[in-house]
Amino acid sequence: NEIATMMEVPVTQIITACFSLGIMVTMNQRLDAETLSIVADEFGYEVEFVDAEVEESSDIEEDKPEDLKPRSPIVTVMGHVDHGKTSLLDYVRKENVIAGESGGITQHIGAYSVDIGKDQKITFLDTPGHEAFTAMRARGTQLTDIAVIVISADDSIMPQTKEAISHAQAASVPIIFAINKIDKPNANPDKVKEELAGMNLLIEEWGGKIQSQDISALKGTGVKDLLEKILLEAELLELKANPDRFATGSVVEAQLDKGKGYVTTILVQSGTLKVGDFMLAGKHFGKVKAMHDERGNLIEQAGPSTPVSVLGLDGAPQAGDKFRVYDDEREAKQIAAKRSQLHREQSIRTQRHITLDEIGRRIALGGFKELNIILKGDVDGSVEALTDSLQKLTTEEIQVNIIHKGVGAITESDVLLASASEAIIIGFNVRPSVSAKHLAEKEEIDIRNYSIIYNAISDVKDAMEGMLSPEI
Ligand code: GDP
Repeated sequence: NEIATMMEVPVTQIITACFSLGIMVTMNQRLDAETLSIVADEFGYEVEFVDAEVEESSDIEEDKPEDLKPRSPIVTVMGHVDHGKTSLLDYVRKENVIAGESGGITQHIGAYSVDIGKDQKITFLDTPGHEAFTAMRARGTQLTDIAVIVISADDSIMPQTKEAISHAQAASVPIIFAINKIDKPNANPDKVKEELAGMNLLIEEWGGKIQSQDISALKGTGVKDLLEKILLEAELLELKANPDRFATGSVVEAQLDKGKGYVTTILVQSGTLKVGDFMLAGKHFGKVKAMHDERGNLIEQAGPSTPVSVLGLDGAPQAGDKFRVYDDEREAKQIAAKRSQLHREQSIRTQRHITLDEIGRRIALGGFKELNIILKGDVDGSVEALTDSLQKLTTEEIQVNIIHKGVGAITESDVLLASASEAIIIGFNVRPSVSAKHLAEKEEIDIRNYSIIYNAISDVKDAMEGMLSPEI
């Protein structure tokens, strides 16, 4: 319908043209680029494709090393359900604000920053779990510097613990383990550490490199030490940003408040955001009318790693959208308008199209050096056997990475990870959940199901040789 309108021909003629190409379409169906070109050509038009991302002006200069100042770490808390993520975040929120600060943390704005004393701060993202973390990453945003993975000492390493570890590793975010609930009589932190060692995750105490801290999120035991370990890790990362420039960063969450209008929590990643700045976030624009911190205080400016809730945008951007400040109101407005227009025209977001065929094609073109795979199976034995065989396919040119493996159905979280890490998903005697299937269709992520190990290996091998025939 859209292309018919653009070319001013009846939509039935477009449908007929598609039909003669062997493509049955309806009026509202979206056509792929190739079909669009052929159909337009039939009517004497040429199609010009524009990128979905409107280019921003390239005035973002590289920072000079001497302008970079240390910034606080941004932390996400992950782990299995009920292992104590929320309790840890609550405890830190309530207890770890040094004396003298004006009031405790009163607002939920999606992120908060705590003062550890000695001018040191840590910013926590207040949405626990790896799903939010990876959803942002699938949108191209990585906010987290350090992942704290909570494991209950009265339980074992659970599937979601493994997922959280894989998600952090896939994002190359360093991990600190918080072994929780040590106040419980049946707590056995050593058993957890042993299990971690069995997964090749050696903590410092056991001669490895990964930091770990025994805690009780309920009583607060060890939490201070955990925070210190976060600072230590941050020091190693040498996190820096230039505060003296216009602000850029990412959206944490946004909502419409009946009284205040759109309220957007953002995290400044570089520069300093000030009241009165012209700001563009995703496809929304506005002049910063007011800013509040997590304590509900009005603030005038926010520097790197500071979470702040902003009033003044003309809509609600999505979590993970990038924002930046413009000198020129007109330029910001224009880009916002262009993005909105593109968004309307496309109405679906750019698809990633990660399929084994596509990867095979890109390998053949020399564009792929790594093949990322998420592997789910019905029993541990077959998962391990497949992992081994698939990893052995690694050649000098192409590295096969099993970025996550596990026993159980293919979940939405697997699909998100695949989308964020350009991975395909292989299911061995397991199927995707309904919601995972829908998400995979939307994101165009390939889920391949096998019940014979040999077939899985031979398909991946063919793809690596760039000669896979499309799955029928
Ligand atoms: P989440 O699902 O990971 O966010 O876990 P929650 O923080 O909601 O905790 C799940 C349950 O474990 C709650 O009933 C908490 O009160 C309890 N819990 C969390 N941390 C501790 C702890 O350190 N000690 C004890 N005894 N219970 C805890």
